[in-house]
Amino acid sequence: MLLGVLDHLPLALARAVLAALRGRLSALCWGLTPLVLPLLSWRRRSGPDTPAAPRENKDETVPTPTSVNYHFTRQCNYKCGFCFHTAKTSFVLPLEEAKRGLAMLKEAGMEKINFSGGEPFLQDRGEFVGQLVQFCKEELKLPSVSIVSNGSLIRERWFKKYGEYLDILAISCDSFNEEVNVLIGRGQGRKNHVENLHKLRQWCRDYAVAFKINSVINRFNVEEDMNEQIKALNPVRWKVFQCLIIEGENSGEDALREADKFVISDEDFEQFLERHKDISCLVPESNQKMRDSYLILDEYMRFLNCRNGRKEPSKSILDVGVEAAVKFSGFDEKMFLKRGGKYVWSKADMILDW
Ligand code: SF4
Repeated sequence: MLLGVLDHLPLALARAVLAALRGRLSALCWGLTPLVLPLLSWRRRSGPDTPAAPRENKDETVPTPTSVNYHFTRQCNYKCGFCFHTAKTSFVLPLEEAKRGLAMLKEAGMEKINFSGGEPFLQDRGEFVGQLVQFCKEELKLPSVSIVSNGSLIRERWFKKYGEYLDILAISCDSFNEEVNVLIGRGQGRKNHVENLHKLRQWCRDYAVAFKINSVINRFNVEEDMNEQIKALNPVRWKVFQCLIIEGENSGEDALREADKFVISDEDFEQFLERHKDISCLVPESNQKMRDSYLILDEYMRFLNCRNGRKEPSKSILDVGVEAAVKFSGFDEKMFLKRGGKYVWSKADMILDW
């Protein structure tokens, strides 16, 4: 219609009208930019394969397993005194069954998977977790794939083979003093946990994997000042947990650990946080925040409900489906959001300094 009107105007006048309109349109576009960019970025984060619409017949009272922690093994080469996922079994699902369960979780709305243990790199010298990482990124196209490890068994050849499929590698480090690490139980013979941490940090740079640090604050490291070392390592995120007691895991008669001597008060934990308040990537997790805000899947792909201070398993998702199992997970979606569980978790959306 606009072109029809212009047909009837003298050429010079038509040019003037078009120039004026172009100016207005350009101003309008710039004005809309702040609105459009977040929408585009959200769209990119969601990805074409992430289910956008609610699934038919979904029970709305059942939480969506957006972010899942799959502890596929309980075996570990360390012996941390406060460990709350101990080697009570040596069971690991066959690879194909684990993949089947992961595909079911994706179908149910999972966007982020975190592989944890025990020590994930112990099984088949890291090949098992490597295959799962590749499957989740390449075939399931999950926006975020991460691993939590003590870092002692990771080799450069693993990064060469699987690094491109991994968004985040989180390494556990509770102290920069090797003697404290030995006291805690994070150490094996001649290997130095801190030296190893720096090596892993460099490999993360070299192979474009986001590097994260997890620390459990306990009686032995609560007085430590970690500012300089954390700044030098420059992780994308530093998760700082308050040592947690879980009945049957690190406390009580049937437990494999006695963590009572590691426990600190809320005030002690606050003081540690206060000492490190200038570290912008620090994410604190008090006992209160941790409870009920994680979806934990054990080695049989059962959700673990920690509501009563111990881990009570649901049935396996492989037997009853995700929705039936997640009902018994004790997972509190609001708590998950409150503790900042949803963050920029895909390396495609991060500004990293490699
Ligand atoms: S490294 Fe982790 S899984 Fe292994 S003993 Fe320590 S806390 Fe437990």
